[in-house]
Amino acid sequence: MENICVGVRVRPTVPSELSNGTYWKVEENRISLHKVHGTPISGLSYAFDHVCDGSCTNAMVYELLTKDIMHAAVEGFNGTAFAYGQTSSGKTFTMSGSETDPGIIHRAVKDVFAKTQLISDREFLIRVSYMEIYNEEINDLFAVENQKLQIHENLERGVFVAGLREEIVNNTEQVLKLIRSGEVNRHFGETNMNVRSSRSHTIFRMVIESKAKDTNLSSDYSSSDAIRVSVLNLVDLAGSERIAKTGAGGVRLKEGKHINKSLMVLGNVINKLSDGAKQRGHIPYRDSKLTRILQPALGGNAKTSIICTIAPEEVHIEETKGTLQFASRAK
Ligand code: ADP
Ligand code: MG
Repeated sequence: MENICVGVRVRPTVPSELSNGTYWKVEENRISLHKVHGTPISGLSYAFDHVCDGSCTNAMVYELLTKDIMHAAVEGFNGTAFAYGQTSSGKTFTMSGSETDPGIIHRAVKDVFAKTQLISDREFLIRVSYMEIYNEEINDLFAVENQKLQIHENLERGVFVAGLREEIVNNTEQVLKLIRSGEVNRHFGETNMNVRSSRSHTIFRMVIESKAKDTNLSSDYSSSDAIRVSVLNLVDLAGSERIAKTGAGGVRLKEGKHINKSLMVLGNVINKLSDGAKQRGHIPYRDSKLTRILQPALGGNAKTSIICTIAPEEVHIEETKGTLQFASRAK
């Protein structure tokens, strides 16, 4: 697979918001804006690795856009999958899913455990952590007391969040239970878009460590493959809508500014990474907490999947264009 995969997912239409002017048409890996009775609107047609329409399930999205990352992670490659999009476009549905259609996180955890069980010549140790970035502050969702954590860097560990709780886990149920307890600690806020929206970035992380079981090898066996450590990040980003639309001041305005800045930095980092090695130059990981935390699993050999979620209704057209532009820059 390519190192950066970009997909768009259109959530099902909310019936009360049906439009009569334009609609987003999905054809294979292309999405374009059309007039209701026919013609496409020029300049508003985009192609990606995959485009999923409203009939796609999380199972299909997982299969198309993220499964390879999980498999690579078990083999020792770092990986990150993002859900990017405005509030109400389906990010949390994609990452966390529903009772009947589990999301990417659930599927990834299950898949990773299943994969590791098939590899008989290695021993695995899996740790998980769960954090949110709210107003450029890092909070541990597994431990209410771990607030405003700092990012550190040293030779031994590279870049890491100091004090972040990591739980050793052995099965999917255990992870889901931890996540459920962590959800309680998330920051939510009301916006006048009339939805309960997430104002923070949430990062679920798995660290997959494995070592070769074979003890018959001579003691000078020091292949770099003896121990592998890979990091997998599954990220539900804060809503990408512009601040003006939420018509808010004070706290909401401050949140909005932090969100806009970190999403802009994320876009810049991914844009540089997708430019190809030669033109890359300086990659501005340090310009936001989000990109700094994800740095080890963004770029280099790491696999990245960006799932851009869009709301198909006409009222969201400007935000949708913004999301498709973000997605286009990532290619
Ligand atoms: P976001 O996290 O981007 O703000 P949500 O994931 O909360 O958006 O989605 C908004 C609403 O739409 C929720 O009620 C969610 O269950 C529903 N929804 C989103 N995507 C889908 C989908 N693909 N299929 C069915 N319902 C969806
Ligand atoms: Mg959400």
